[in-house]
Amino acid sequence: MRIDRLPFVSAEPEDLLVYGYDASKLEGRPTALAFPGSTQDLVELVRLAYEEGLSLVPRGAGTGMVGGAVPGEQPSVIVSLERMNRIMEIDTDNLVAVVEAGVVNGRFQRALKDKGLFYPPDPASLNFCTIGGNVATGAGGPRAIKYGVTRDYVLGLELVLPDGSLTTTGVRTAKGVVGYDLTRLLVGSEGTLAFVTRVLLKILPEPEQVMTLTSHFPDARTAAEAVSSVIHSGVLPRTLELMDQHSLSAVEKFRPSGLPVTGALLLVELDGPGYVVGPDLEKVKEVCAELGGTVTVARTSAAAEKLWEARRSISPALYSLRPTKINEDIVVPRSRIPEMLDRLDALSRESGILIASFGHAGDGNIHVNIMTDRTNTEEYSRARALVEKVFVHTLDLGGTLSGEHGVGLTKKPYLSMELDPVSISLMKHIKKVFDPAGIMNPGKVFPD
Ligand SMILES: Cc1cc2nc3c(=O)[nH]c(=O)nc-3n(C[C@H](O)[C@H](O)[C@H](O)COP(=O)(O)OP(=O)(O)OC[C@H]3O[C@@H](n4cnc5c(N)ncnc54)[C@H](O)[C@@H]3O)c2cc1C
Repeated sequence: MRIDRLPFVSAEPEDLLVYGYDASKLEGRPTALAFPGSTQDLVELVRLAYEEGLSLVPRGAGTGMVGGAVPGEQPSVIVSLERMNRIMEIDTDNLVAVVEAGVVNGRFQRALKDKGLFYPPDPASLNFCTIGGNVATGAGGPRAIKYGVTRDYVLGLELVLPDGSLTTTGVRTAKGVVGYDLTRLLVGSEGTLAFVTRVLLKILPEPEQVMTLTSHFPDARTAAEAVSSVIHSGVLPRTLELMDQHSLSAVEKFRPSGLPVTGALLLVELDGPGYVVGPDLEKVKEVCAELGGTVTVARTSAAAEKLWEARRSISPALYSLRPTKINEDIVVPRSRIPEMLDRLDALSRESGILIASFGHAGDGNIHVNIMTDRTNTEEYSRARALVEKVFVHTLDLGGTLSGEHGVGLTKKPYLSMELDPVSISLMKHIKKVFDPAGIMNPGKVFPD
C-alpha cells in the first residue's frame, strides 16, 4: 500500500483491533489506520487511497450507536479525525465559531461558557463525541426540545471529497440562499458522502438562569402524559427527559445517585431570565401535581450536575440488568408517547423480554432498550425480532425509526419501512455523484 509511507498511517495490530468497533459493539478489521493532523494530510491520504481503490471510513470518537464507523467487508482505511482538534475561532460579535472536526463537543461547550456563550446540542456522550461525528450523524440531545439539534447550528462546512478535492459550503451570515443547501445535505450523511474537516457553527449567548428539577410519578405513562401537559401549559422547558423504572434501578445499581427506584422520573430544565424561570417553575409544579407528580428542585449546580451524571450513565448502566442491549432511538409525536409506552409494555409482556425506555421525551425521542443475552441464541433471536415490531408501532403512531443515531449498519435492513423507493433511489443517486467509485464508508445506510 502506498499510503503506508505517510507518517500518520499505522497498521500496528493493536491499533487495528481497538479502532475496529464503536458503541454499537459491532466489530470489523481495517486494513490500516490514518490519523491526519490537518486538512492537507487528509487530502494527500484520500488521493492515494482513491488511486489504490481503498475504501475510507471516517471516524470521530467511535461513540456512534449504529456501526457507522465500523469497517465493512472491503479493505478499508479507518480515518480518525481525533488529531484535528483545534477550536479555530470564537467570534463574539457575529456569534459564530469555527472548529476542526475532531473537537470534542464538551470541550467546545466549556470554551464557550468561559466567554458567556452557549452551544445547545448536548448529546449524552458530549464528553467523548466529536463535533465532526455530531455533524455526520445529525446528533441531538436533551436541549433539542427548545433549541433544536446539530443541523440547526451548522452554518457551513469544509469538506474533503472521496477523490481528494477540497470544498467549502455555507455562509458566515444569518442569511444566504445562493445555490443548493449542501451544508444541510451533509448533516446526517453518516460519512458516506465526504469527510467533514471544519465546521462553522452558530452559537448563542448563555441564558441568564438555568433551573434543574425532577418530578417523580407513579409510572412512566403518567410521566409521559405530564410531558404534553407541561408544553400545553405554555412553558417550553429546555429539557424534558424521561427515565422509566428499569432505567432508574439500573442507574442506582451502577452508580447510586439517590434516585427513586420505583415509578418514573422526569428531569426538567428551565432557562431564561429570572422573571420567566420563577413563574415557569410554579406552572410546572402545578401541572405535575395534578398528575400525582412530586417536584424536587436542585438547589445547587453540584446537585444539578449529579442528576445529569445519573441521566448520562443510563446507557452503560443498563448492562447491569442484562449483558446485551439492542438500543433503538425511535421518535413519535410527543402526544403519542403514552400510547407508545403502552405498546412497548405489551411487547415486553408478550415476549417475556425486558424493555427499558428513557430519553428525550420532550421531543418524542425515546431510547428503547431491548435487554437480552447474545449468548442465549433462542432468546436473542426473539429479542431481535422485537426490533421490527417496535418500528411498526413507531411508524403507525406517525413517528420515525431514528431521531439521532442514524442508520449505519444496524438499521439499514429497515430503511424501506420508512422511506419510499423514489426517495431511496434519489439518495443513492446523490451518493453516486459525491462518490462515483463507492469508496466512502461503503455498506452503510443502504440495504445491500
Ligand atoms: C453513552 C452514549 C450516549 C449517547 N447519547 C447520545 C445523544 O444524547 N444524542 C445523540 O445524538 N447521540 C448520542 N449517542 C451517539 C453518539 O455519541 C453520536 O452519534 C455522536 O454524534 C457520534 O460522534 P463520534 O465522534 O463518536 O462519531 P463516530 O461514532 O466516530 O462516527 C459516527 C458516524 O459519523 C461518521 N463520521 C465521524 N466523523 C466524521 C467526519 N469528520 N466526517 C465525516 N463523517 C464522520 C462516521 O463514519 C460514522 O458514520 C450516544 C452514545 C453513547 C455511547
